[in-house]
Amino acid sequence: MASSSQPPPIPESQLTGLELTKKILESFLKLMTKNKVDPAKITAIEAPQRKIMLKNILDISENTPVFSLLADERKQKKIYHIIKAILAESDKEDEDYKDIESRFTQLLLDRKQGTTSNKRKPANQGGFMTAAQFNSCLKIQKTFHTISDKEIPSNWIKITSTLREPIVFIDAKDEEEAKKIKEKIEFNKNELKISAEITNVRASGDRVITKLTNSTQETIFIQEIKELLGEINIYPPSLRDPMIMLYKIPAMVNTDEFIADLRKFNNFNSDDKIIFHKSFNILFNAYKNIILRVSPAIREELERKRGSLLYKCSTIKAADYFGILRCTRCLRYGHLKTVCGSQSICKYCADFHLSDDCQHKLNSIKFKCASCNQAGHTADDKKNCPEYLKQLNHVVSITNYAYSYVIQD
Ligand SMILES: [Zn+2]
Ligand SMILES: [Zn+2]
Ligand SMILES: [Zn+2]
Repeated sequence: MASSSQPPPIPESQLTGLELTKKILESFLKLMTKNKVDPAKITAIEAPQRKIMLKNILDISENTPVFSLLADERKQKKIYHIIKAILAESDKEDEDYKDIESRFTQLLLDRKQGTTSNKRKPANQGGFMTAAQFNSCLKIQKTFHTISDKEIPSNWIKITSTLREPIVFIDAKDEEEAKKIKEKIEFNKNELKISAEITNVRASGDRVITKLTNSTQETIFIQEIKELLGEINIYPPSLRDPMIMLYKIPAMVNTDEFIADLRKFNNFNSDDKIIFHKSFNILFNAYKNIILRVSPAIREELERKRGSLLYKCSTIKAADYFGILRCTRCLRYGHLKTVCGSQSICKYCADFHLSDDCQHKLNSIKFKCASCNQAGHTADDKKNCPEYLKQLNHVVSITNYAYSYVIQD
């Protein structure tokens, strides 16, 4: 019999791909010797590791198509048996175990009801499905996990610099104090007590905003100002979370359930952030696009998957979202149509007519961009518009993610 009884550790990082999932199931099954759960093997695993293991196994078991693919009926029963055995050994008061136990109970219940009736979960909802649905689901899951071998799509925008603007804020009690701090900075700069290269300093409400020439000067300024003013609250602008937009989700889908499914089907880590930002209906309200704020790890995964994610038995398209404002009337950046004083401008030739009426839609010689006033590209050609790229570089620089590409839809 196998002499090395210690199962290999379960990776804590997010589970990617069927191969890793398979390994996790296999190592879990090694907790059994001759069809019996070996208590010594269970106690050999450290308590936090055991919890992670159980959570992983439940994640997999709840993903019916994947679970059935990797474990036959006999293996599934063994796995349930091991889960039961570990739960029996566990601390009944522990919140994590309580959670695991209730998930497991629900799982067994779903399974039982699934064999007798399909009442709980209709087919296609990640529950029980027909053989044809099941097979197509497996195909999608399989191809999806090799998608990162694909080349970078040609419409993605390469990002060269993501440096944040060198700028710092100083908090004041009120407007009065903000003005005094601003004057002190100017005074000390004139007196050469501040050597940092300041390009601009201004009081705005109850804080002072100082722009520096570069990031080194920013660091020098922070040191010098702390020495001069003592206890003050000085900080660079906070970085925002990366945002992604997911396309064409059925409008009736509940957002919380959608996010939970997204986690489950893409095997995202439970501590990875996914926060609903907003959504808007499309295609006569039949579908909606959903914008989410996410952890860098999830944005990373979206790039690996070349702009698509798994959702139930299909893939959905997703892209980076930056919330860059552009007026749909005059096509300039920075304001919306509701406050626009200009006439409608054509996105193809920058003339004063509606884009739909343009005679030059297919005539690239006549193309002129109304956003930047340059000829040679249309206002929708994001890859070639310097004005759009300027806006993009700014938001990228204040986002908590080291972009190498911007994922376009
Ligand atoms: Zn406008
Ligand atoms: Zn035109
Ligand atoms: Zn342009």
